[in-house]
Amino acid sequence: MDWLVATDLDGTLLDDGYPLAEAARAVDLLHQRITERDPQSTAHFVLASSKTCAELIPLARRCASPPLVLFENGAGWAWQSVPTSDPPACGDGYRIERLTNISYADIRALLTRLRRHPGFDFLGFGDWAAAEVAARTGLDEPAARAAKRREASEPILWQGGKRALRAFRSELERSGLSLTQGGRFLHVAGRCSKGAALAQIQAQFETPGRPLFKLACGDAGNDLDMLRRADLALVFPNRDGGYILPEGAGVAHAPRAGPENWLAGATRLLDSQYPKAEGP
Ligand SMILES: [Mg+2]
Repeated sequence: MDWLVATDLDGTLLDDGYPLAEAARAVDLLHQRITERDPQSTAHFVLASSKTCAELIPLARRCASPPLVLFENGAGWAWQSVPTSDPPACGDGYRIERLTNISYADIRALLTRLRRHPGFDFLGFGDWAAAEVAARTGLDEPAARAAKRREASEPILWQGGKRALRAFRSELERSGLSLTQGGRFLHVAGRCSKGAALAQIQAQFETPGRPLFKLACGDAGNDLDMLRRADLALVFPNRDGGYILPEGAGVAHAPRAGPENWLAGATRLLDSQYPKAEGP
């Protein structure tokens, strides 16, 4: 059997205080464990985050087999391409494909128009310099610059009232856009999700006659459809300490985020559901 392993980063594979190298090592070790269990199998890894492509590539590049990058909550994906004469679309040899039909420039243009409505009071990453993004997110300035390199979604801070927010949401929906609540910001994007994007990625990796099993890891509402579509789900506590899915068939809870718990939890889940084949 082949495996597709998709993981969220913040609150899941990543936790405060772990260097990226630790997270990359955990990905490499899980990759190794899956292929050791069944040397005939192939494992594909996907980093699935609300972060931008530019923020995700530094981690992907540290992994022995660079994973696919699913950026901005499934608005698009990027993969390491063989060198071509075309300039890479996303830096560092990665090429990208947007999975929504609206670009960041179009989203910004629409937001600028909507801001003229009385009561639609908001600011987004595109309105702020990198230093301001850094101050509002806790990122350092190089990371804030990477967070501003957006392809297809805009995080905004809503400063208007609740009724105006409902009207704003309706206006976005009329234009084919969605508004989702993240940890700190509201995210304006085309209609996309990590789960829908993963279904498209899965189709690329499916080989006729070979089952492709999916393991998904996540902690928050934006991971839910990805976790539900997976054969195995490893769920981490969200900001409130609760879990978005109860433990059950194929669903396990991890005690805390971070590479060590991620690797231990994923290995345990694999071993409990798909015991290693006995040798001859
Ligand atoms: Mg998360």
